[in-house]
Amino acid sequence: MPAASAPLCQVSRPTRHGTVTYAFRWDTKLVGRIGECDNSGMVGVGTTGELESVRVTRILRDDIVLGRRAPGSRLIERDIAAELNVSRLPVREAIRTLVGEGVVVARPRSWAVVREFTHDDIRDFGEVREAIETLIFVFAAERHTDEGIARLRAAYEREFAAASADEVEAARIAAGEFHEIAAELAGNEMLGELIAVFVTRLRWLFGQHDDLLGMAEEHRLILDAVAARDTDTLRWMIPRHLASGQEAAERRLSDQAYSI
Ligand SMILES: [Zn+2]
Repeated sequence: MPAASAPLCQVSRPTRHGTVTYAFRWDTKLVGRIGECDNSGMVGVGTTGELESVRVTRILRDDIVLGRRAPGSRLIERDIAAELNVSRLPVREAIRTLVGEGVVVARPRSWAVVREFTHDDIRDFGEVREAIETLIFVFAAERHTDEGIARLRAAYEREFAAASADEVEAARIAAGEFHEIAAELAGNEMLGELIAVFVTRLRWLFGQHDDLLGMAEEHRLILDAVAARDTDTLRWMIPRHLASGQEAAERRLSDQAYSI
């Protein structure tokens, strides 16, 4: 494992202030974008070009976000290590990273567990998310390039194709990418940093839509408004779009009768 201060890779992105280079470290969630980087010179890279701890983190994160590991379920290091055919160290690192991302709770002298959210958590989160995501889509409308809108459209098309084929996980992943690409198009580093703090929780809490085609249709309307630079429409459309995801999250919480 490299020292926390050692950048693993760097990515340059154009912003309205010129080109900015981001460095990703092993302990940041943004390391998930490592595939975009030049990995030469990295240490501990597995055959897939990922650090083992990064790969384990990604697998566990997806398991949680996609609902394969239920809230409250235990994350037992030795079982996960055996399952993924790795040592316990990368599993421990992955769990630590996911605690930092707010989807796993560490318990002293016991196993870590997948976090259980409450209705208050969902409400608090929804309020912050509405403010930030509205800004993101308004800025994306104002600042996008042709290349950027093509990427947003490609994510929507992947989502629609998957939703039409009833491929639930693929549709949810593409829907998450739609929001992530919009955040990049917004070209505001501070917004990017804010969203990075809770993007995993966002994907988890609000990403498990049941009405896949309905969600894809909402994304198409948002895409059209971004492409047309129609910020007025986005200012009322985004809060409504997010509200439907929030209602679904609250329904899921009630249905599963989580302990609070
Ligand atoms: Zn959405």
